[in-house]
Amino acid sequence: MIDQAERYIASLNPTPPAEFEVHNPVTGELIGRLPNSSPAEVAAAADRARRAQSLWAAVPVKERCRMIDRFANLLHGPRREDLIKVIRQENGKVYSGAFAETAVIVSTCDYYTKNAEKWLRPERRVPFVRGIYRGHVHRKPLGVVGNISPWNYPLVLSLMDMIPALLAGNSVIFKPSEITPYSTIEAVKLLHEAGLPQDVAQVITGDGRTGAALVDHVDYIMFTGSTATGRKVAMRAAERLIPYSLELGGNDAMVVLRDADIHKAAANAVSAGFENSGQLCMSVERVIVEEPVYENFLAEMQAWHAQINMGTGDSMDVHVGSLTNQRELERTQAHVEDALAKGGRLIAGGQPRPDLGPLFFEPTIIADARPDMLAMQDETFGPLIMVAKAKDVAEALQLANSTPYGLSSSLWTRDTRRGEEIALGFESGDVNINAALLVLGSPDMEFGGVKESGVGRRNGRQGLLKYTVPQSILVDRFPKVPDAPTIYTRRIVWILRLMRPLKRWLPFLGS
Ligand code: NAD
Repeated sequence: MIDQAERYIASLNPTPPAEFEVHNPVTGELIGRLPNSSPAEVAAAADRARRAQSLWAAVPVKERCRMIDRFANLLHGPRREDLIKVIRQENGKVYSGAFAETAVIVSTCDYYTKNAEKWLRPERRVPFVRGIYRGHVHRKPLGVVGNISPWNYPLVLSLMDMIPALLAGNSVIFKPSEITPYSTIEAVKLLHEAGLPQDVAQVITGDGRTGAALVDHVDYIMFTGSTATGRKVAMRAAERLIPYSLELGGNDAMVVLRDADIHKAAANAVSAGFENSGQLCMSVERVIVEEPVYENFLAEMQAWHAQINMGTGDSMDVHVGSLTNQRELERTQAHVEDALAKGGRLIAGGQPRPDLGPLFFEPTIIADARPDMLAMQDETFGPLIMVAKAKDVAEALQLANSTPYGLSSSLWTRDTRRGEEIALGFESGDVNINAALLVLGSPDMEFGGVKESGVGRRNGRQGLLKYTVPQSILVDRFPKVPDAPTIYTRRIVWILRLMRPLKRWLPFLGS
């Protein structure tokens, strides 16, 4: 399958420049080599995408939905296991994690194919004066959308944002991470198999230079990755005056109140903190626990930790796998050492596991965390959970909000009404109450960051409409020859005089 993927990419880039290598993080073995696409090749892909887009936009939305539905059927059915293999081979995650990636994309397809027609229909709006004029807002595709994605969820982060972009009538150019490009390549082949024209969905491979070149040629850029790179993308997009969305880093907090179900909260801290070995933008990195239940909570976490099975096997019983690259291993180790040197209490883990593979690191829990520890400020992006104590809710919130990030968060309490009020005090794009990570998996709920965690939202109606440009069309139903060569003719002046009182008496006239 990888050979086929290479041939496919080579056919997109007939004269590939320098290549890059993709390795299996668990075994270190070479998976394949792919071209580092040059700016000229990116420009050529964008030209092809632009030509294909005008035809794609003419395909009825219903038909576009049918193709995406066929794609979801392939992914849910015969091709799921193939894709899971590819994801695992280049990312190193466990079987259940790769399975979840395919499930998220199927559910994204189902959600948008159900709603796209309704949301893309022209909408009737209240014009200048109802009755005299009529108004509609049309949703036109933007043109060519670029998607730059990271390596931690190579299928989800390529596809979940581009399904709505395609349904809205755009063509798409994917620039997957150079660390995990094959998952996207395979998924795009499935889109073609489902009926999408070749140039409507294209993949270009390469590193950051290829990504930067892509920003120069598209009409919208959807970027997922680090805050540092996101800033560069935003600056270039601003120069070109193109719209963009940025899904960036996080250092997410879980707050556990004294009335919480401690057993369940601790289980979720462990599973949401060590999912994908902690290489998740919204993984639980900091847990802040109210003082009366602090030691109890740590004991529960320790007990759950003891049940974690880390390894390389294919079984559903392997819970934590390898890290994906050396940088993450080194950062995790540095954050652990820093926290312990500054007085952190090691509750579990703390060591690399070279016996399992070069990039394995034990799921680690450190208690008595303080704000000056690196892991309490910066994203670790590895299997490390820091636990801090707070004397009350106010202090817990203040601690939770004390980082430059604001992606997701979670709150644990039995009093869910009070919980919903407290949730509004979190500086984060979403809050899960008595749950963790679930907003991203809910296609009807907007997901995205505040502060340095991002700009824009994915999911929901907004997650589709952001790939369109609204065009308002107003029609004068009784056009007349104006009585003077000015906008402010007698008729308009009379309308302006009468409009406010009339709207008061006859509200249906106004907005
Ligand atoms: P990264 O920023 O290093 O790379 C992301 C992508 O950007 C890659 O495809 C890379 O080739 C490309 N790139 C690099 N330089 C570029 C440039 N100058 N112009 C355009 N593209 C460029 O991030 P990463 O290490 O791949 O991913 C990890 C980061 O992603 C973490 O910070 C994580 O929190 C974040 N992330 C965020 C979300 C979210 O939804 N908010 C999801 C997953 C990951």
